[in-house]
Amino acid sequence: MSFLEYAPAPESTAILNLKSDYGLFIDGEFVPGHGKSFATISPATEKHIATIANANAADVDTAVRAARKAYDSTWSKLSGADRGKYLFRIARLVQERGRELAVAESLDNGKPIKESRDVDIPLVAAWFFYYAGWADKLDYAGLGAAPRALGVAAQVIPWNFPLLMLAWKIAPALAAGNTVVLKPAETTPLSALLFAEILQQAELPKGVVNILTGAGDTGQALVQHPDVNKVAFTGSTAVGRAIAKSVAGTGKKLTLELGGKAANIVFDDAPIDQAIEGIVNGIFFNQGHVCCAGSRLLVQENVHEEVVDRLKQRLSTLRLGDPLDKNTDIGAINSREQLDRIRELSDIGEAEGAERWTADCAIPENGFWFAPTIFDNVSTSSRIAREEIFGPVLSVLTFRTPAEAIAKANNTPYGLSAGIWSDKGSKILAVADELRAGVIWANTFNRFDPASPFGGYKESGYGREGGRHGLAAYLTTASLHDSVVETKAVAQ
Ligand code: NAD
Repeated sequence: MSFLEYAPAPESTAILNLKSDYGLFIDGEFVPGHGKSFATISPATEKHIATIANANAADVDTAVRAARKAYDSTWSKLSGADRGKYLFRIARLVQERGRELAVAESLDNGKPIKESRDVDIPLVAAWFFYYAGWADKLDYAGLGAAPRALGVAAQVIPWNFPLLMLAWKIAPALAAGNTVVLKPAETTPLSALLFAEILQQAELPKGVVNILTGAGDTGQALVQHPDVNKVAFTGSTAVGRAIAKSVAGTGKKLTLELGGKAANIVFDDAPIDQAIEGIVNGIFFNQGHVCCAGSRLLVQENVHEEVVDRLKQRLSTLRLGDPLDKNTDIGAINSREQLDRIRELSDIGEAEGAERWTADCAIPENGFWFAPTIFDNVSTSSRIAREEIFGPVLSVLTFRTPAEAIAKANNTPYGLSAGIWSDKGSKILAVADELRAGVIWANTFNRFDPASPFGGYKESGYGREGGRHGLAAYLTTASLHDSVVETKAVAQ
């Protein structure tokens, strides 16, 4: 071992007290599922972690009924201040059990412990604290007169930030006075089940939050259930489109947080050292499994060579391996299916003529891994410039003028996020004004805050999560509610 290498520093799993089998969390209790149970495995080792219940349509119905009963009998009757107290309690318990949640998340998802410990779990707590504060102030949120809850919210989330996506969904829903049935992704159910234990610890009234594990058919049965009032989905654009079709005309309120292909634009006057760190954080954070990842680097032609050379040097220092090691920068790819997709698109990029460069790092024998990869000289028509790869793969394109950068950045069916790197504030503001992206970072990337709304344009979905705007998705106002009732009455 050279003096530049790090000795292994694995986080202990002793803090985890996992069960061998997990049921569905319905009406405050863990109960068996009626579908065929499945295993959740560690993507870093392919070892079995636990057996997970699978909710079929009948289980979905039981959970929605429990949520409806809890809404009618308990949750809608509580004052905002009392709902807030439960949310504060949940936030504190998340903090108290933070280390355990971080270890569970890294084990089940494959993300480095330093990310789950320092980013995901603190943000989960922050989201609950933030929305706890709103629960008794809805009248002052500027969302219309006498805002009120919608009823039962059906929520379906992906595997890339399992507990954080859960927090983004559950915290505003409960603060606004709704009850919830949530389905985590099939490859990462563990932290949602530990969260269910936290809800028991917090003595949240039974049925206010129900957690159903299962795959796409469980999600489909949930969003199509006739007694849900609100559907909130985060995941792929293809599934989002199918959900939008199935919800159309039902009167259910819908928000969709879908895919992205963000441009990270580096001008020649940018602070290059910072930009390199920002590019690395933009696409290699969480193995690139980030909807708002800066997966398209647009770099001004006169600094292109310098930026790419320095990026390669920086990527050569990243450590890939055991997600539970505190030194690890790049963890495991979440599943074999995702690894196959990353490999397939990368091969296509090479076949289409882009120059492929991969960091030289040892790949562990078991598990799913993909070394950080850069494609240079990518053309705008190439599939790796247009499609979401959702892995540690960066496509590099060049531009000469701000107008060309803007045109190239907007040349995508997506519109979730973007980054701009420049020393000149006026240039940043002028370019940001022209970009069709829901979130734009300037001289930074992948920063999240519960007070800041997040969401996309075009095929990246609609609706916003976070901030005051995030509450709007879970509320109706007296005037809106009355006009819907009137329209229905006229239609009848
Ligand atoms: P996915 O769409 O395959 O699955 C997401 C969830 O939907 C899972 O829980 C899955 O079981 C469920 N599901 C699958 N088919 C369904 C159906 N027909 N009806 C209802 N539910 C169904 O996506 P994924 O592969 O898990 O996640 C990756 C995608 O999520 C990427 O495209 C990424 O960009 C996107 N994402 C977006 C955001 C955002 O905020 N915009 C955040 C994270 C991830």
